[in-house]
This record gives sequence, structure tokens and C-alpha cells, in this order.
Amino acid sequence: MPEFFNVRSPSQAFDDLRPHISAITECELMPTTSSLGRVIADEIRSPEDLPSFPKSSMDGFSVRARDTFGASESLPALLEVVADIPTGSSSDVELSVAEAAVAYTGGMLAGNADAIVMIERTQPADETSIEVLRPVAPGENVVHAGEDVRAGDALFDPGHTVRPQDIGGLLALGITEIPVLRKPRVAIVSTGDELVPPEDRPPPGNIRDINTYTIAARVAQCGAEPVIIGLAPDEYEPQLQAARDGIRTADALIFSAGSSLSTRDMTADVFNQLGEPGVLLHGISIKPGKPTIVAVADGKPLFGLPGNPVSALVVFDLLVVPTIHLLSGTDNPPTANTLNAILTADIPSESGREDYVPVTLSDSGGTLHSTPVFGKSNLIYTLVNSDGLIQVPADSGGLYAGEEVSVRLY
Ligand code: AMP
Ligand code: MG
Repeated sequence: MPEFFNVRSPSQAFDDLRPHISAITECELMPTTSSLGRVIADEIRSPEDLPSFPKSSMDGFSVRARDTFGASESLPALLEVVADIPTGSSSDVELSVAEAAVAYTGGMLAGNADAIVMIERTQPADETSIEVLRPVAPGENVVHAGEDVRAGDALFDPGHTVRPQDIGGLLALGITEIPVLRKPRVAIVSTGDELVPPEDRPPPGNIRDINTYTIAARVAQCGAEPVIIGLAPDEYEPQLQAARDGIRTADALIFSAGSSLSTRDMTADVFNQLGEPGVLLHGISIKPGKPTIVAVADGKPLFGLPGNPVSALVVFDLLVVPTIHLLSGTDNPPTANTLNAILTADIPSESGREDYVPVTLSDSGGTLHSTPVFGKSNLIYTLVNSDGLIQVPADSGGLYAGEEVSVRLY
């Protein structure tokens, strides 16, 4: 019976792979409005000041601050209202001594005005004048030209992944196109004589291929582009052909199944034919997911994921996700979303191996509980019916009911 030798932990496995991977350098121009999640390729500087004119941050009155000095409830400053400057209008009104103009949030200040008195700090005196009940300092309630950003300021460095607020910041400055790195392309081949396309009814002994599509969905979720190569039988030549098609068009290749040690498992042999240095490791100390292959062919990472759909997704998260982030060139990759919860049942585990156990989350009286979904680890509905995974560390013999655990949410 063949065995896995030199089994690496998932993090050691990634450490072995990391030095072989470099970020994509090809870049393309992209409309800012559709750039969410894309990685900026070149430094972007501001072409102009933002805001481009001094504006009011309150509803009230444009004033010359010094005309309000000393004002109080008992001795208000009397100002003549000489103009009304609606939001969206420009004005050439200049204030003279003891004059004010009606101002709106986001609207322009009158010329000579250096502050805004909030409407709540005034009262009407007669048809055309107001009483100011408290002084304002110069600059009060005013957003100055260039206060948000100055012309020439560096806005984004290369490697920054665009977030919703970044789209707003760029568009405010009229930057409607940005240079971004090309998305990593990840080719997916599902191997196995038993597989039929999901739209077919499988004959006895066959099953529908699901890994192609769960893996493709995860690839897309990570900001990369899945390239579905298709199904390959458990035969060397067709698998080699599919693998070559994959690495010709993509930056990384995933093989589903065939990663174990039986005579029908030929992923490792195929990977060793694709380029140097070939297979880096075969087998990782994790459950589910032990029969995993990590290889490199001429700078392109290759993954042999276990065929078991649950194992495939667990290993994908530990090894493929960080690889996609390295390829993408991002310097702010999203971190796993985790929540702490109290475990409701014991989880036995062998030490020397990391276990990943699907759990459901429930709230009882304000305390979050996590309940393991036990069952055969190869059943996709253990993942469908769970909210996240907990890790039992390699040096632990298990976790106990009542312990606080960290749940990695999907
Ligand atoms: P293997 O890695 O080839 O030993 O496969 C392990 C288990 O995963 C077997 O039960 C396979 O039938 C199943 N399996 C392999 N490939 C897929 C796939 N693409 N979709 C769903 N299940 C699969
Ligand atoms: Mg198989």
C-alpha cells in the first residue's frame, strides 16, 4: 500500500510554493465605475483640488467672521442679508461690513465671506436682516478648496485593490478610467472516469461533476478569472493534453481529483511533464484534504486538489486563495472573515494534523454558538448546510464543548 511521505502542513506547503510565484505585470485601462476589486497598476495622482471651491458644510449664512465677534444672545450682531446662493449656483456677490448671504450645505460661499453661521445660531430681525446670537471663527463650517485632496497629491499606490469608496474618490476628481493589472486566470480540469456534466443524468456508478463549478465560483469570488477546460478521464494522455491547454491560457492550473496514490491517480505524473521544477509536494497534514499536490511548471503554480468536493474547497481556501492574491499583485488582500462562538459539542482530533470542521452558527440569548456538522466529510451538503469552518490546530487533540472557537465564515 503506497503512503504519503514528507507530509507538509498547509502553511509549510504555501511557504514552499511562494518563492515560485510572481505577480502579473500586464495592465489594462478600465472604467472606474466597473473597477471594484481590481488592482491598481500605476500610481494615481490628483489632477485638481477637491473641493474645487470653498463650500458650506451647514445650512445658514455666509459671513465675514469678524462681523460676528462679540455677538451674544443679549447683544446679537445685526447683519443685512444681501443675497441667496443656492447649492449648484456660483455667485459674484461680495460681502461688505455687516452683510450676510443665505448659504446651503454644499453651496458656495459669498466672496469675502470666511465662515458660515448655522441657521440655528440666528434669528430673523426684520424682512432683510438677521441677528447672529454667537460669534463664529474664521473657517468655521467651511470646507476649504483642496481640503479633501490637493492637485498633485498621490491618491493610490500600485497594488491597491479598489474599494467602493475609492471609486467615489476617483470619480469626484473626474478620473473615469484607471490602469489596473490583468486579472489572474485560473484553469480548471476535473478528472475522473465517473464524471458526467451536471446537465446529464449519470448512469449507474457515475456522478455529476460539481468541482469544476464550485472551484470556478471560488476563483471568481477571489477576483480571478476561471477558465474551464472541462472533464478528463483517468488516462494519462487526455489529462496531459487538458493540462497543456490549461497552462497555455492561464496563470495557474487546478486539477480536481486523481491526487491520491492509486494507479488511477496520475495528476503528479502529469504535472511533472509540464515544466520545471514539477511537483514540490504530495500530501499535506490536514483533514479533509490530505491527498493534495502542489507543483510549479515554469513559474506557473499547479494544484492537484482532492476529488472529494469538501476537501477540494478546504484546500482551495488554504493554498489557492493566497496564491491568487500573490498573482493578482494586491497589497491589501481581503482577510478571512471570522467570528468567535462557543462550541456546543466536543470535536475529537488526531494531533499532528489540522482538522477543518463545518459548523452552523446560532444565537441563543445574545451568545453565539457553533455546532459541528458531523458526517462523512465527502458530502457536499455538510458545506451547504453550514455557515463556516473551525480549525482544530495540529498540536491539539481536539476541542471541547464550552470552548470559545474562531469560525471562518464562507
Ligand atoms: P479521487 O480524488 O479521485 O479519489 O475522488 C474522491 C471522491 O471525490 C470520489 O468519491 C469522487 O467520485 C469524487 N469526485 C471526484 N471528482 C469530482 C467532481 N468533479 N465532482 C464531484 N465529485 C467528485
Ligand atoms: Mg478518482
